[in-house]
Amino acid sequence: MKIIIIGAGVAGLAIAWRMARNGTEVLVLDRAQPARGATYASAGMIAVTAETAGAATSEAEFALRSRALWPEFAKELEAISGINISFREDGALIVPASSTEAERLQRQARGGGAEYLTRKETLARAPMLAPDIEGALWAPRDAQVDNRALGPALTNAAIRAGAKLSANEAAVRVEQGASGELVVLSAFRIHRADAVVLAAGAWSGQIGGLAENLPIRPVKGEMLALAPPAPNALPVPLLWGHGIYLVPRNDQLFVGATVEEAGFDTGLSNGARRWLLERAQALVPCLRDWPIREHWAGLRPGTADGLPIIGETGTPGLFLAGGQYRNGILFAPALAEAVERLINKQKVADEIAAFSPGRFDRPV
Ligand SMILES: Cc1cc2nc3c(=O)[nH]c(=O)nc-3n(C[C@H](O)[C@H](O)[C@H](O)COP(=O)(O)OP(=O)(O)OC[C@H]3O[C@@H](n4cnc5c(N)ncnc54)[C@H](O)[C@@H]3O)c2cc1C
Repeated sequence: MKIIIIGAGVAGLAIAWRMARNGTEVLVLDRAQPARGATYASAGMIAVTAETAGAATSEAEFALRSRALWPEFAKELEAISGINISFREDGALIVPASSTEAERLQRQARGGGAEYLTRKETLARAPMLAPDIEGALWAPRDAQVDNRALGPALTNAAIRAGAKLSANEAAVRVEQGASGELVVLSAFRIHRADAVVLAAGAWSGQIGGLAENLPIRPVKGEMLALAPPAPNALPVPLLWGHGIYLVPRNDQLFVGATVEEAGFDTGLSNGARRWLLERAQALVPCLRDWPIREHWAGLRPGTADGLPIIGETGTPGLFLAGGQYRNGILFAPALAEAVERLINKQKVADEIAAFSPGRFDRPV
């Protein structure tokens, strides 16, 4: 069987690695360089607790399934690629900004998998937090990975497993061929395959033909990296509060992220920078003295109901692996597993049914 994957982000590359390793002939097309889209722009959190509060059951189950796969996924990926992806299971502290939020977090703690800490216990884990906090949710399962190393590692592993990667080759159109095969047209070639996976992130709805107008839209996020006065000044756990999060990564502190409906614009704004800084400093006052080292923006793949879209479209052989919104790094191992099983017509986890491309008013 031959498959073409459109998009070499974390989703497309994880699928490519898995399927090539299991003997499928895989070609990955990317309109630019691999893993330079949202995968590069992201914060790399595996935020299974912080991001699933209030999520649909199907999404929470999918997140937990993927979280469980992450340690082995990271270990294998590092062994095969030879690239350190810094998978860290240091947990997260989620600090409420109001008594209503504190009550919600206490309820979440009672649901299991997390613990509500007193002020003293919280400050013992992160002494840099503002001293007037009342407590925080301790989420020991929340983890992180160096997403900027993850892309090269997946690229390397997929190629070593036998996948072919064609960078700087945008898919322009997907069509059905005369013998029922799928045809992907790029600016300079015609590719044929038994199955095609659309994994082009926020741009998945921009490919013509059978892939036209898929219900995926870009949701912009701006982030900052701050430079600490010394590497040991960084917090150990991930910190959440005041609508932002702080991620210690490679001698810097990531501050993220805005959530903006701005089409495909990735321009940087002073307003976003101020917004991120003010909130970060309210959570951790000493950040006032930390200079900004980097400011960037990326586009998350969003959907109308907030759930991912994973499954076969109305066109046999054309699969969609997208709409992961804020959780595409977290979801990668489970997404790759599900897509491979769907293509091979094997049984998938129950929650995948909720992510069907056919669930929209105008089914894909
Ligand atoms: C600021 C920010 C912070 C985030 N933080 C986190 C986080 O902490 N944890 C988490 O789990 N998720 C996070 N996310 C979300 C996560 O980054 C995305 O859900 C995930 O990267 C989506 O992966 P993807 O492979 O589908 O898309 P992308 O990584 O965007 O990759 C899509 C690829 O498709 C290519 N492409 C586009 N059009 C075409 C075409 N026509 N032909 C060929 N190739 C094409 C692009 O060049 C790109 O390489 C964050 C996102 C942002 C923006």
